[in-house]
Amino acid sequence: MDRYDAIIVGAGLAGLSCAYHLSEKGKKVLVLEAHSYPGGRTSSFIDNGMQVESGLHRHIGYYSALPKLLKKCGVNLKDIVFWEEKADILIKDENKKLVLGLAPLLGFTKTLRGILGNNDVLSVKDKLSLLPFFICGFTSYIFSTRLDNYSVTQYANRHRVTDKSKRLILEPLSSGIFFMPPENYSAYAFFGLFAPGIPKFYKMRIGAYLGGMTDVVCMPIVNKIKSLGSDFRFNEEVENVLVKNGSVCGVKTKNDNEYYAPQTVIATTISSAKHILSAFKNDGRLQKLFLLPSMSSCTIQLELDSPALKKDITTFAPGTDMVSFAEQSRSTFRQCNGRLSIILGNAKSYANKSSEEILTVVLEQMNRLGIHLDGHILNYRKISEENEFYSLDCNNQSLRPHQKTEIDGLTLAGDYTLTSSFATMEGAVKSGKKAAKECLREL
Ligand SMILES: Cc1cc2nc3c(=O)[nH]c(=O)nc-3n(C[C@H](O)[C@H](O)[C@H](O)COP(=O)(O)OP(=O)(O)OC[C@H]3O[C@@H](n4cnc5c(N)ncnc54)[C@H](O)[C@@H]3O)c2cc1C
Repeated sequence: MDRYDAIIVGAGLAGLSCAYHLSEKGKKVLVLEAHSYPGGRTSSFIDNGMQVESGLHRHIGYYSALPKLLKKCGVNLKDIVFWEEKADILIKDENKKLVLGLAPLLGFTKTLRGILGNNDVLSVKDKLSLLPFFICGFTSYIFSTRLDNYSVTQYANRHRVTDKSKRLILEPLSSGIFFMPPENYSAYAFFGLFAPGIPKFYKMRIGAYLGGMTDVVCMPIVNKIKSLGSDFRFNEEVENVLVKNGSVCGVKTKNDNEYYAPQTVIATTISSAKHILSAFKNDGRLQKLFLLPSMSSCTIQLELDSPALKKDITTFAPGTDMVSFAEQSRSTFRQCNGRLSIILGNAKSYANKSSEEILTVVLEQMNRLGIHLDGHILNYRKISEENEFYSLDCNNQSLRPHQKTEIDGLTLAGDYTLTSSFATMEGAVKSGKKAAKECLREL
């Protein structure tokens, strides 16, 4: 029965990274994926005739594990990424915007203009109030995880950041990225996301992908893994792990198939991992996994008859429920005349609303930003999945489980497991590589 050295559950970036690193070392793996396509939260697919994505994705210039993996799979980042050097922060009801430079070296003038300019919306006092916040935050991040006890708002209050800077700078940079309000968002996760950009300031910029994530990122990795002799089964949802003499020896799927291997890697979302491993719920050995809380995301994606925005750049809208969005008709969805992907805050409440209800809110809030979409919408979809992220609330960093477990035959992977990154594509790839290392030690 042990035709495979390892079974990997989940073909998201964590599972793909793990499968690649094992296959590269000559191990034969079987990847089981619930959906009909790879990528998970980094995917693109057709939803009832409309091309959609799991959500708006940006590549941060300092990422290294993801570009390395892509390169090994024959993909050069410069062929699939379009670089942005700035982001827009639109100010509700004021018909004004703040332009944030994001590339200290590669877009030096834009960055400088962002700091010295924007004076019609942020005063010198507002800007200076951010200095102690950032200096102390980055310093504290380097030396300890104590920052995880504070939310972004609590830390900003401690350092007397002005209300305007909190609203126009800190809100976009927290909830605009991980759809959680700054009142809850861990200051550790906040600084941790940007900290790797300091030593790699010369690489810092933000990239939009030139195509659907499954097509440009995930399929090349799948093809490489197959060429190394490993296998994939799609539409194969795993129900539970199989346990023999206390060791995990394989998995059982909803289609009633059983697969056996000396190593099983659960590389699903956190909520699926809890379900698949529910037999171990009261077993202290997976205590961190079961204690780590989760959060949801929700996006609405609009196909339009013309571009909604002049440029395809990341746009934030503090004070609205549209925490970040981007026009994508010249980047990710070039087949469309106009295309918006919008990430919503308050994801839990939106996850229960219909696409029509969400669209009504979005149209009203877009109007208040000076973006008038009435009569331009050709198609729209709500894309959401509940509890697929680990919660970036305060005090959760210490609960992220290690990839290695104390249960024989079982390894974890996924962006929620412990890496030096957070819930990002980079974190997922790193976790898969770490999981592969653990498996190789056992095989
Ligand atoms: C809206 C949104 C925007 C984002 N923006 C960015 C961004 O700009 N930059 C960035 O770096 N990251 C971004 N991310 C985060 C990034 O997409 C994730 O961190 C990464 O994709 C997580 O990869 P993963 O492999 O850990 O998990 P997933 O991608 O969730 O993979 C898990 C896989 O397991 C499968 N699965 C689940 N249960 C089962 C089961 N029972 N049996 C078999 N298979 C199963 C799932 O179908 C899925 O394919 C964003 C995510 C979302 C949702």
